Amino acid sequence: MGFDLATDLAARRRQHRLRQPLVMDGPCGRHACLQGQQFLNFCSNDYLGLANDPEVIAAFQNAAREWGVGSGASHLVCGHQRPHQDLEEALAAHTGRQRALLFSTGYMANMGVMSALLGKGDAVFEDRLNHASLLDGGLLSGARFRRFAHNDADALTRQLQRSEARRKLVVADGVFSMDGDEAPLSAYAEACEANDAWLMVDDAHGIGVLDDKGRGSLFAQGVNERTQILMGTLGKGLGTAGAFVAGSHELIETLIQFARTFIYTTAMPAAVAAATLVSLEKSRQDNWRREKLAALIARFRAGAVERGYTLMASQTPIQPILIGSDADAMALSSALREKGFLITAIRPPTVPEGEARLRVTLSAAHEQADVDALLAALEQCVRILPDA
Ligand SMILES: *Cc1c(COP(=O)(O)O)cnc(C)c1O
Repeated sequence: MGFDLATDLAARRRQHRLRQPLVMDGPCGRHACLQGQQFLNFCSNDYLGLANDPEVIAAFQNAAREWGVGSGASHLVCGHQRPHQDLEEALAAHTGRQRALLFSTGYMANMGVMSALLGKGDAVFEDRLNHASLLDGGLLSGARFRRFAHNDADALTRQLQRSEARRKLVVADGVFSMDGDEAPLSAYAEACEANDAWLMVDDAHGIGVLDDKGRGSLFAQGVNERTQILMGTLGKGLGTAGAFVAGSHELIETLIQFARTFIYTTAMPAAVAAATLVSLEKSRQDNWRREKLAALIARFRAGAVERGYTLMASQTPIQPILIGSDADAMALSSALREKGFLITAIRPPTVPEGEARLRVTLSAAHEQADVDALLAALEQCVRILPDA
């Protein structure tokens, strides 16, 4: 009864669900440093290897010298500095939109957009595997909350047809964060057009990675003009931190007026914006990063399939290996750690019950030999599992 936190924590530990942060003793890159030991890092979202890029670091350092560290206030008071404005304009141009608006995190961007646009009498339609921040944003908005089966455009269409809501917003990840597969966006756009709904895509894992200029899922799938709201994060492919929403002039004006997670929070440091301007430009121009990544993905998939592992239908750098039980996923993750590989086990409620997995992510910072080493280590480690 009451706040018996110790009992709840002990239960969580028994279920193999206790979550614990690792203390990293070095930057995010090809390697991760933990307690003086080096690991090959196969769990970051730094897909293009930009988080620790010398030019991005230099831009950050120079801007910190010029602008200081803290922005000092929210965007609408006096925290919106020149680098923020420049980055918003660059993101709008990059994504082919009239305007873009910065948020301090992707989580806040999703909460802010949905609560600014939706309320009682409206409805939000979400893929059941959407990121937690999209689900929370939908719930917080007060709109009627509907979930549809993963990547099922027909199920979505049926829900839309039945809805009599004032505003209908369809929301999906462009690339699913724990599966790596991509949403069928042109089928969604069609369903939205036929049912007077808007489409919002969270492209946290597509920006920088997909399309020949790294413009993400909307360009890769040819639906940019048909998607009213694009949310992208800066802390994954672009290697920095923060997020943006891009869309029409009216959309951005509305968010400035009504998105509480934009209004009531301190603007990100200008140095983060300045560093992102450089990483954005590199993400556009450095096609070699995407080409290298594609070769690593192909090599990993071929090797994993050859060894009989269950992969997901993913062409992206997110290449999870489905394990099943929480305990097995944890055991495999720690066996790999002993061999020098850092790969986190992802457990419920982040993924559905019985679908614990090793979320392997690849990066342009990796070399082919790293992938080969991972495959060889996996082969030895899976032997520890009961039904291997
Ligand atoms: C990481 C992530 C977010 C949250 O972005 P942050 O900037 O890390 O808060 C939102 N949506 C998806 C799909 C993500 O993977």
